[in-house]
Amino acid sequence: MKKTIKDIPKNAKRILLRVDLNVPVENGIVNDDTRIKAILPTIKALQQKLCQIILCSHFGRPSNGFEQKYSLQNLIPKLEEVLEQKIYFINSPKDLNAQDAIYLLENTRFNEGETKNSDEFAQELAKYGDIYINDAFSASHRAHSSTQAITKYLPSFMGLALEKELNTLEIALEKPERPLTAIVGGAKVSTKIDLLYNLIEKVDNLIIGGGMANSFLAATNIKIGTSLYEVDVLKKAKEILNKAAKLNCNIILPIDAIVAKKFNVSASTNIRLITDINNDEMILDVGSKTIEKIKSIIDNSKTIIWNGPVGAFELKAFSHGTIAIAKYLAQQTQNKQIISVAGGGDTIYALAMADVCDKFTFVSTAGGAFLEWMEGKNLPAIAALE
Ligand code: AMP
Repeated sequence: MKKTIKDIPKNAKRILLRVDLNVPVENGIVNDDTRIKAILPTIKALQQKLCQIILCSHFGRPSNGFEQKYSLQNLIPKLEEVLEQKIYFINSPKDLNAQDAIYLLENTRFNEGETKNSDEFAQELAKYGDIYINDAFSASHRAHSSTQAITKYLPSFMGLALEKELNTLEIALEKPERPLTAIVGGAKVSTKIDLLYNLIEKVDNLIIGGGMANSFLAATNIKIGTSLYEVDVLKKAKEILNKAAKLNCNIILPIDAIVAKKFNVSASTNIRLITDINNDEMILDVGSKTIEKIKSIIDNSKTIIWNGPVGAFELKAFSHGTIAIAKYLAQQTQNKQIISVAGGGDTIYALAMADVCDKFTFVSTAGGAFLEWMEGKNLPAIAALE
């Protein structure tokens, strides 16, 4: 059993709290503070216990020790603004003064031991706390010193954000209200093969869109013109279709598409039935008939899990399908018709474009960890909390 904040011993005074401060920064400005806001509930709960909170996190991918642009010190103004209190930046356990305050450690990835899951670095981190709390689901697919090895050296607990995320995801995929539908899009099948194999075992409907649908269409002998597709996954696509049929998982592929001869802003577009794609055209978005079909599947579902855009949504001309689905899922969630869970970088970007981020039941800010969860994998840092 994983322990929660409720199980923390009363005498724990110094709490090493692993959070995810890997926020998008452009020209020194934090573009999105969702991940910082996510740690507020745990911090508030801990502060009622009168303790010192020592935050640690990775940031970016520094390759060779300290680099100013990756220093967590840069985030202090934003942290102080969101958490509404002073943050003390420290480099050694000796810098912890007697105050019950929030302290911040430097980017864990400046230490080469971090990504090697080194025991030595974990022991160094352990010197800061009496106990360890992981509140960073989005970093939990990695076995690193600050997420996994550390649990060997300090009593370890789940933070509130991590607990909520795990519970929501578990309910959505393992104990969902059915029918359960997954919508999977994105560029390539090859990056999501494991995820598709796992989903057909669990979901009632699997809607496949985006560039990855092209390989499935090709596997059913549909001519897809010059569309993005992967020859080497055709066999696997066929296998997934056959296996899904045996498992009574209904696979839904696009029935029409927005096509263009080129992928650029000024490309002229056409809508075609999926069986009518010309040799010199590429599929860049789902068409209106497909959108209607997807909406009717949503109408007949109780739980929806979504990862990946159903078109090349970065260009306005090909964003319609993805935005229409985002808005419909948001509307049906608000109408209490469905439970909706979405995750992954591009998906969140699409939700922001549709202005519906706060209208889903749950939006995971985790990219890799969310995908690995959808693949049915055991996340190492979560397993280590057992
Ligand atoms: P992924 O990272 O696998 O979720 O893929 C997201 C990317 O897939 C986005 O950049 C989309 O532009 C791209 N994408 C989605 N549909 C298509 C399509 N039909 N053709 C080309 N790229 C697509």
